[in-house]
Amino acid sequence: MGISSRDAAGFRTSASMTPEVVQGLTALVGESYLLTDVAERALHAYDATIHRFLPDAVVRPANLQQVAAVLRLCQQARVTVVPRGSATGLSGGALPVRGGLVLDLTRINRIPEINVNDLYAVVQAGVTVENFSRAVAEHGLFFPPDPSAARASTIGGGVAENAGGPHAFKYGVFRDYTLGLTAVKMDGTIVHTGGKTVKNVSGYDLTRLLVGSEGTLAVIVEATLRLIAQPKARRTMLMVYDRLDDAAETVSQVIAAGMQPAALEFIDDASIRVVEQFLHLGLPLDAQALLLIEVDGSEGEVSEQTERVQRLCRQHGARSVTVAGSEAEAAQLWKARKSIASAVARIKPSKVAEDATVPRSQIPTMVRRLKEIARTYQVDLVIFGHAGDGNLHPNIMCDERDPHEMERVWQAVAEIFAVTLELGGTLTGEHGVGTMKAPFMAWEHGEEGLAVMRAIKSAWDPDHLLNPGKIFPETAPPWPVALDPWERRIAGKEP
Ligand SMILES: Cc1cc2nc3c(=O)[nH]c(=O)nc-3n(C[C@H](O)[C@H](O)[C@H](O)COP(=O)(O)OP(=O)(O)OC[C@H]3O[C@@H](n4cnc5c(N)ncnc54)[C@H](O)[C@@H]3O)c2cc1C
Repeated sequence: MGISSRDAAGFRTSASMTPEVVQGLTALVGESYLLTDVAERALHAYDATIHRFLPDAVVRPANLQQVAAVLRLCQQARVTVVPRGSATGLSGGALPVRGGLVLDLTRINRIPEINVNDLYAVVQAGVTVENFSRAVAEHGLFFPPDPSAARASTIGGGVAENAGGPHAFKYGVFRDYTLGLTAVKMDGTIVHTGGKTVKNVSGYDLTRLLVGSEGTLAVIVEATLRLIAQPKARRTMLMVYDRLDDAAETVSQVIAAGMQPAALEFIDDASIRVVEQFLHLGLPLDAQALLLIEVDGSEGEVSEQTERVQRLCRQHGARSVTVAGSEAEAAQLWKARKSIASAVARIKPSKVAEDATVPRSQIPTMVRRLKEIARTYQVDLVIFGHAGDGNLHPNIMCDERDPHEMERVWQAVAEIFAVTLELGGTLTGEHGVGTMKAPFMAWEHGEEGLAVMRAIKSAWDPDHLLNPGKIFPETAPPWPVALDPWERRIAGKEP
């Protein structure tokens, strides 16, 4: 294998991946599980963002001990390591931006324990979220976090990103279900955090620190996850709105009324059009927005909530309400929402997916501001997402081969972040910072907040070899357009 500081394709590569390191890694995991061929490396150069960086090699360890040995060797040789689940991440977290070694966790994929008495399961990092949810459902149990890519995305990726999904509104995100972790530091030290109890205040909460740490502090190999009982009944409803503002206002009113649907999803007119073009579901093309609302609980609770939600939606301008009468009808209603990502991919060759999150009362303003941004920067924007959490997914459809269009796209994204923060929100509700939001972190956390985060990073990984180029602005790839106008605005020096 020819290893250079820059690959033929122009990707950045790590200078420390010497033939000795390759030999050492091969000895640890076996020849079949150390991938050095350029085609295999190219298959690990991607995640679900539009960027790609070629790693120098990919390792696929089989167990905790191999992960620890691989990390120890890389620490000694000063090779950067990027943990990777299924690479469905939308913020560039699994991209090897400095080359080095991609550590693929998908072979570590067993579920050693499902405990129906104490309501927890022990699950390894490479199990997909869908397989895990199915396995616990066979015992009548429920693991609520359900990122829309659950069929592929892994438990390790979910913990590392603190992923959510449509049901986070009522049930919370990965953090709310993670009781304990087995993780490996960059120097190969194995750390067990938390435990199997629902209460645990022994020392610093390292479990919560690792959840959402995006593979920058340690590699997660196993998680102990809390489970709950399956709700007895659920009902799905689709509300059609003639006015976007009415739909957005309904979201605020549902929250203000203290209702807690299991899911409250928003779909704008542009999303309706792209899904309808793709699937011909009979969606109303003249509508400005849809709300997809699911309620669950006992039969009595579900009937009562269905009535209340319908009444409130009609009071706030819903022109029609469809209530699914069966599981099959519910799946059909969900299809519109779940197909947006694939439908968007058919319109233009590239997309930039964001997850700006605002306080829920700001949803109507945020939707209006996003529409203005689309007009100002002339970008093709669809808006959908977990409105119940204030977590919208503005997706910009674009063509990355068109530099003029991309300049407007990157400006629009910077504007989205600025507006989100102005409304009291956060850069990311569930997709993580990765490389895509790193340049903006000081806008949200200030230099003081970032300094504390850097100190935590250094305590776990003093040489900054684990997943470099993520979270911290100075190590991330440069943002493709100048940010000065927004920096001045954020600093309060310009209107
Ligand atoms: C169509 C689509 C829909 C999506 N919907 C949602 C959604 O509804 N909600 C949501 O939250 N997200 C969603 N996502 C984003 C993505 O699916 C989640 O972030 C998911 O949790 C990533 O899991 P993964 O296994 O693919 O991780 P990767 O993409 O492989 O990695 C993501 C990050 O986690 C780190 N990582 C992965 N495994 C480990 C490990 N074992 N130890 C330490 N670090 C690790 C990586 O270094 C990287 O920083 C969606 C993505 C797509 C493409």
